[in-house]
Amino acid sequence: AKDAGKGQAAVYRPGMKARVAEQAALLDGLRQAVTGHQLHVEYQPIVRLADGRVTGVEALARWRHPVRGPVSPEVFIPVAERTGLIVPLGRSVLAQACRQASRWQRGGSPFATHVNVSAHQLRDPDFVVDLQKVLAETGLAPAGLVIEITETAMADDPQLMDTLRAIRALGVHVGLDDFGTGQSSLGILASCPVDLIKVDKSFVDRVTLDDRRAAVASAILRMADALDLHAIVEGVESAAQAQRLHDMGYRQAQGFHFARPLPPRAVDRLLRPR
Ligand code: C2E
Ligand code: CA
Ligand code: CA
Ligand code: CA
Repeated sequence: AKDAGKGQAAVYRPGMKARVAEQAALLDGLRQAVTGHQLHVEYQPIVRLADGRVTGVEALARWRHPVRGPVSPEVFIPVAERTGLIVPLGRSVLAQACRQASRWQRGGSPFATHVNVSAHQLRDPDFVVDLQKVLAETGLAPAGLVIEITETAMADDPQLMDTLRAIRALGVHVGLDDFGTGQSSLGILASCPVDLIKVDKSFVDRVTLDDRRAAVASAILRMADALDLHAIVEGVESAAQAQRLHDMGYRQAQGFHFARPLPPRAVDRLLRPR
């Protein structure tokens, strides 16, 4: 078998052929969805812990397969990454999110729209020029946009660091996603040109149950403060977690406790002053 060089023969489990066929069908459908503009975007509110006020949103790609119905990004994003389809997919999400964000921006108070961008996209030599074009076309003020990247994607790639600097030179902010799940978080924080971190849900999950977890969540915040980085906690699911994180000093959070990812109109309703 092909993998024999790794010292281990590939084992063909029953059903593998079917899985390969399914992956191919999924990729085919995804390719059609991207070129046919069938991908849409939902927006999960980011709130101020002090009063629950919505300070921004994270744009999340959504795909409704004509036959299978909604497919999770946990399924289709990795497929898109493996095949390079993430580049046009990501471009479409970025354009949709910027268009929507410019409407929210016209609504008044400062508002940040976060968009996930994969390392694959950042390596595309056209990325920064495309970004500049999208900002110009949509009229979105650069300071209203946050590009979220994952720390694993960043590991010691000087070219990516340059791209991040170019993004920040436009006035767009950069955030480090899933902070604390990678392998070199601390080193990366010292060298990576970012404005904020998204503290991973795994630190939030047990924050009310486990004192040692809570101590780590608190230490992450103090480190972020010392480095002049904003910190947003992700995956807050209960009032008790929100309270505990607020008591620690966290100012911003995101999670099902506050709001799920929503279509733009539902976000409009949250932003309208009552
Ligand atoms: P992420 O960037 O870490 O996004 C947060 C994910 O956590 C979202 O899942 C969101 O729905 C979910 N979430 C938010 N609050 C809670 C909570 O309180 N509890 C739980 N259990 N989950 C919560 P989603 O939308 O399924 O996206 C999964 C991942 O797919 C994202 O993780 C991101 O890595 C990727 N992704 C989604 N859209 C895009 C995109 O446009 N481009 C790229 N490159 N990746 C994307
Ligand atoms: Ca994210
Ligand atoms: Ca995240
Ligand atoms: Ca994630």
